[in-house]
Amino acid sequence: VLVRVREGDDLGVAGQMRVSPASLASLYEEDFKQDMAALKVLPPTVYLRVTENIPQIISFIEGIIARGYAYPTVKGNVYFDLQSRGDKYGRLVGVAPGPAGEPGDSDKRHASDFALWKAAKPQEVFWASPWGNGRPGWHIECSAMASMVFGGQLDIHSGGMDLVFPHHENEIAQCEVFHQCEQWGNYFLHSGHLHIKGKEEKMSKSLKNYITIKDFLQTFSPEVFRLFCMCSSYRSAIDYCDSTMLEARQLLLGLASFVEDARAYVKGQLICDPVKEDMLWERLTSTKEAVKAALADDFDTPRAIGTILDLVHHGNRQLRAVTKEPGGPRSPAVFGAIVSYIEQFFETVGISLVKQQCISGDSSVATLHSVVDELVRFRLKVRQYALTTPEAAGDARRQLLLERRPLLEACDALRQDLATHGISIKDRSSTISTWELLDPRTKHQKPGS
Ligand SMILES: [Zn+2]
Repeated sequence: VLVRVREGDDLGVAGQMRVSPASLASLYEEDFKQDMAALKVLPPTVYLRVTENIPQIISFIEGIIARGYAYPTVKGNVYFDLQSRGDKYGRLVGVAPGPAGEPGDSDKRHASDFALWKAAKPQEVFWASPWGNGRPGWHIECSAMASMVFGGQLDIHSGGMDLVFPHHENEIAQCEVFHQCEQWGNYFLHSGHLHIKGKEEKMSKSLKNYITIKDFLQTFSPEVFRLFCMCSSYRSAIDYCDSTMLEARQLLLGLASFVEDARAYVKGQLICDPVKEDMLWERLTSTKEAVKAALADDFDTPRAIGTILDLVHHGNRQLRAVTKEPGGPRSPAVFGAIVSYIEQFFETVGISLVKQQCISGDSSVATLHSVVDELVRFRLKVRQYALTTPEAAGDARRQLLLERRPLLEACDALRQDLATHGISIKDRSSTISTWELLDPRTKHQKPGS
């Protein structure tokens, strides 16, 4: 994977702020990397900076000129000659929209020709080139640097919807003439934008209609954001609003809680009536096939998620706890298989439903975990004692129950008090209690044990 860092945007700002363009660019670059890591986006294999590859970009432009598809002007600009491209231009969008030329470009042969090299304007950062001082055009940077890493052919090229034209169309033109090939990229994946609900425009720095990733993560976990994204097609525009985020969080909690219950069942902590095991095995098999088919169909993640939620729904229906004493047949294998499939699916897309995540190597959290374990075990013993029917009968029995009542009340009070500290105790039967953590920072429920 190659990520292109957009240094160009920062160059103008650097002038205004009186810091060197390079240090401003690296400031934003580090910030960007931190945000991506916080969202659990895996880093790319290669980061390339335009400022470190100017000679390669210049020789790429020279290659296009040598093949007869670009021309320099007396003003020191170099343009791609679109007439020479014929009807091959505009393949991505069907028909190329009208000229996307920059204002004031009077030295072009045709209005729709686009710049490969721009002559330096006063106060601008510039580099020396065979055509005079200047800087690369935007589109050529991608074509040249992608070719450095991947050679003359790309399999998948991605980007936002707004980059289809002219940016990607121009990248294709440059690369196909440079590499003299029929088709440079096999697939282009264009993702929809994130909008603030009720606003037409995409979120952007210039429109000031955005929420920063850091602010977002104050309230929601990266898992919630990932699930929110997966609930729409990557191609469609999605609306950001708190209520859709809360829905995504509820969905995630539902999944985590199913995994928790299924685990409790596998361990024998959750007692159920006999489950319809054959039905569940069939459901699991058909879910796996349907998820694969959905993802193979242009990454239809909403359909894949819907299919998994359906499996969870059927699993949950079988896991209805009964208060009867244990003894019937149990089916731990099928629930083990379902949990491992669901966890694996979500791990693949960067969403962790794993209990241990809340411990995360922090020893103070691990200690707290053990202390709560002890506390819940002690409370269970007290509760069991309070609930056991006394041997005595009549008035004596009533008297005993009355005497034990404060113990039950104390158990309930402890459960409520711990909930305010983000620890939720669940009494699953008279002999089994489990607990889970509610993460105080994200309010995102994370199961404990
Ligand atoms: Zn690009």
